[in-house]
Amino acid sequence: MQLELLTIGDELLLGLTVDTNAAWLARELATDGVSVVQRATVGDDATRIAAAVRDALDRTGAVITTGGLGPTADDLTKPSIAAFFGQRMEFHAETWDRICQRWRERGRPGDPPEANRQQALIPVGAQVLPNGHGTAPGLLLEDAAGRWVAMLPGVPREMRGLYEDELRRRVRQRLGEARSVIRSRTVRATGVAESQLPELLGDIAQGVDGMSLAYLPGVEGVDLRLTVRGAAPDVADARLAAGAAIVVARVGKYVYAEGHIDLAEVVLAACRARALRLAVAESCTGGLLGARLTDVPGASDVLLGGVIAYDNDVKRAQLGVAAETLAGDGAVSEQVAREMAAGVRTRFAADIGVGITGVAGPGGGTAEKPVGTVWIAVDILGDVRTYGGRLIGDRAEVRFRASQVALDMMRRALVAPE
Ligand code: ATP
Ligand code: MG
Repeated sequence: MQLELLTIGDELLLGLTVDTNAAWLARELATDGVSVVQRATVGDDATRIAAAVRDALDRTGAVITTGGLGPTADDLTKPSIAAFFGQRMEFHAETWDRICQRWRERGRPGDPPEANRQQALIPVGAQVLPNGHGTAPGLLLEDAAGRWVAMLPGVPREMRGLYEDELRRRVRQRLGEARSVIRSRTVRATGVAESQLPELLGDIAQGVDGMSLAYLPGVEGVDLRLTVRGAAPDVADARLAAGAAIVVARVGKYVYAEGHIDLAEVVLAACRARALRLAVAESCTGGLLGARLTDVPGASDVLLGGVIAYDNDVKRAQLGVAAETLAGDGAVSEQVAREMAAGVRTRFAADIGVGITGVAGPGGGTAEKPVGTVWIAVDILGDVRTYGGRLIGDRAEVRFRASQVALDMMRRALVAPE
C-alpha cells in the first residue's frame, strides 16, 4: 500500500515549527506496512490544500493530512477537502457533546465559544475519529473509487493519539493479512567507539540474516539499529529478536538496553534489584544527572537526592571536601571527585555516592585542564571507581556525556558482564 502525507500550516512553511508529525507518521506507517511515497507541506490556504490533496489522490489514492482542524479562521483543512469531495458540511451532535463535556472537565465556565462549533461541522459521509486527547476529531473521507483522505489534528500529541487509537486499526484493515512491514529494533551501547564495533561484530558488521545494521553515534553512545524490510509482521518481529540477541552477545558489556530506554532507567533498576540507595554530587553537570534519574517514574525508591556543588564553598560545606584538596589538586581533580562522592554518600546515608567535577566550557580551560576535562567518582559502599578524561563537544555535550559516563560506571559496577 502506498500513501502520501500532507502537513498543513503556515508555521511549518516558515520554519517556525519543525514538521515532526510527518516524521512520526512515516515511521509508524512503515512499521505497519505502508510505504510513504511522497510528503508535502502547504500553508493555511484552501486552494493549495485542495490542490495538494487532489494531486496526491491522483498518484496514490491515499493521503493523511495533519493540521488545520482547530477552531480558528486559519483552520481550513475540513472545508477545503469537503469541497474537493463535493460534500457539504453538517452539524455532528455527538462531536459537539464531546466538545462541551471536555470544556466542562477542564473547569471552564459556561458553554464553549461559538468558534468551537466549527469543530463539530463534519463533511457529509465522513467517518468521525473521536479525539480522546483534544477537541478536534479526526475525519476519514472516502470517494466512490475507494480513494481516501484521513485528517488528523496538528498538535503532535493529539495527532499521535488519534493515529494510535483510531487510524492504525483502519489502515491495517485495508492492508489485510498479507501486509509486509518495515520494522526496526535498536540495541544501545555506550563506552565504546563506533570504530571499535565492526571488529566486535565480526561477520555481522554489515547486517544479520538479511537485516541491515545501521550505526547511529550520538552523545549517549552508539545505537545499533537492525531493520527488516518486506516481511509479515510476526516474522519481522521474530527475526529482529533473534538478530538483536546476536548483536547483544557480540557487543557484550557495552550494551545497556534495547529500544528507547535511557541509561538512567537501567541504573535505577540495577540499584533497586540490590536495594542500593543513591545520592549525587554534581558540579559541572549542574543537576543533569539528578534530572535524568528523576525523569524515570519510580526513581524515589533509589534516589535519595543530591547537591549541586558548583562553588568550592559548597563543595567544602555541604560535602566535606577538604580545603587542602581544593587548593592543592584544584576543583577539577580525581581527589575532589572522590571526596564529593564519599561526602554525599555519607551525608545522605546512601549506599552509592557519585561525584562529578569538570570544565564544561566554553571558558575556564587551561593548558593542563582543557575544556572537556572531567573527573567522576562512583563510591559504592566505600569501593571507589574513578574516571578521568577529556569529553568532546560543546558545553551541553560535555555535560551530557559526563552524566552518561557516571551512569555507565554504575552500570558496569553493578550489572555488566566482564
Ligand atoms: P488546534 O485545534 O490546536 O488549532 P489544528 O489541528 O488546527 O489544532 P494547527 O493549528 O495546525 O492544528 O497546529 C496546532 C499546533 O500544532 C501548533 O502549535 C503547531 O505548531 C503544531 N503543529 C502543527 N502541525 C505540526 C507538524 N506537522 N509538526 C509539528 N507540530 C505541528
Ligand atoms: Mg489551528
